[in-house]
Amino acid sequence: LLNKTQYEEIFKQVETKQYNMVAKSKAKATFVTLARNSELWGLVNSIRSVEDRFNRKFHYDWVFLNDDDFSEEFIETTKSLCSGKVKYGKIPKEQWSYPDFIDIKKADKARSRLKELGVIYGDSESYRHMCRFESGFFWRHPLLDEYDWYWRVEPDIKFYCDIDYDVFKFMEDNNKVYGFTISLMEYQRTIPSLWRATKGFIRQHPQYLHKNNFLKFISDNKGKTYNLCHFWSNFEIASLNFFRSDKYREYFEYLDKTGGFFYERWGDAPIHSIAVSLFEDREKIHHFGDLGYTHDVFTSCPIDKEFRKKQRCSCNPQDDFDWTVGSCTWRYFELNRLKKPEGWQNYKD
Ligand code: GDP
Ligand code: MN
Repeated sequence: LLNKTQYEEIFKQVETKQYNMVAKSKAKATFVTLARNSELWGLVNSIRSVEDRFNRKFHYDWVFLNDDDFSEEFIETTKSLCSGKVKYGKIPKEQWSYPDFIDIKKADKARSRLKELGVIYGDSESYRHMCRFESGFFWRHPLLDEYDWYWRVEPDIKFYCDIDYDVFKFMEDNNKVYGFTISLMEYQRTIPSLWRATKGFIRQHPQYLHKNNFLKFISDNKGKTYNLCHFWSNFEIASLNFFRSDKYREYFEYLDKTGGFFYERWGDAPIHSIAVSLFEDREKIHHFGDLGYTHDVFTSCPIDKEFRKKQRCSCNPQDDFDWTVGSCTWRYFELNRLKKPEGWQNYKD
């Protein structure tokens, strides 16, 4: 017969074992990529980077979405690179076309005007469908129904550091809703009436404004105007349930009805950012400063040398954007009273 201590010891072991099993279990999570067939080779680099730095250890699924049919080559190639289950979905036509309340002539004129002003993607029709889809529809795709979390990946991005922990479990265990790496300022000309529309929505639904919101991150004057700060949405690790909520759905619906996706050039990044900053507890927004990430001209590279060595980061800290004047990340740190990394001042300009 075992004595009490021995019993307790065995019990503890069983408990620990069970805990480890739970800790090892995965989150209901997936990567999600919207892409065209023509972007395959740029996407191949992104997948390789995600798999090498993170997913070869975790094997999360990958959902690919397209407004067109994916080519055999696209499917074959991406499938060979992903270590989790892969799924391919086609976007329904009505989520990638003009809603009936849009005046197409007015939309055409708006595009020519933005083109003349030299605004990037100013004249692009597909870019507008993309932004509207990423704002209002990707999270409704049936292939995403079984998941709680997504990580958005675009073609031609790169991760520079080893990611040794399960970032989805991190989000879940720490009760987060939205994770970003780079934050920056939007071009005013793409969203002249977005803030007015947002205020209109909040006036109609004051109950959706969270008591502990992050308005200070997106406005310098208590909400009078938008300061253009937003989380760069080509990388996101976030809760699908946030987007599925009534408040987000109704916000999207309201924005959509104003026609701003087509009469202006509203991006999904400011829309996601404004929504999460107003409707959620600010504590639930997480900055991933440990990944090392790049897309186009902007890079996030941990400036702490010891950290870079430990995580085998392959980025040049001189390229880091996070602590420069154009970034909004230092504002996020200051508002949350977080300690900025040693030497951040050297990056100011
Ligand atoms: P940027 O990051 O703002 O320069 O915009 P991108 O051109 O990278 O587009 C954002 C995301 O949408 C990327 O994942 C693209 O692959 C995807 N995307 C953009 N336009 C289209 C399109 O017309 N069809 C499809 N299927 N995907 C698109
Ligand atoms: Mn992109």
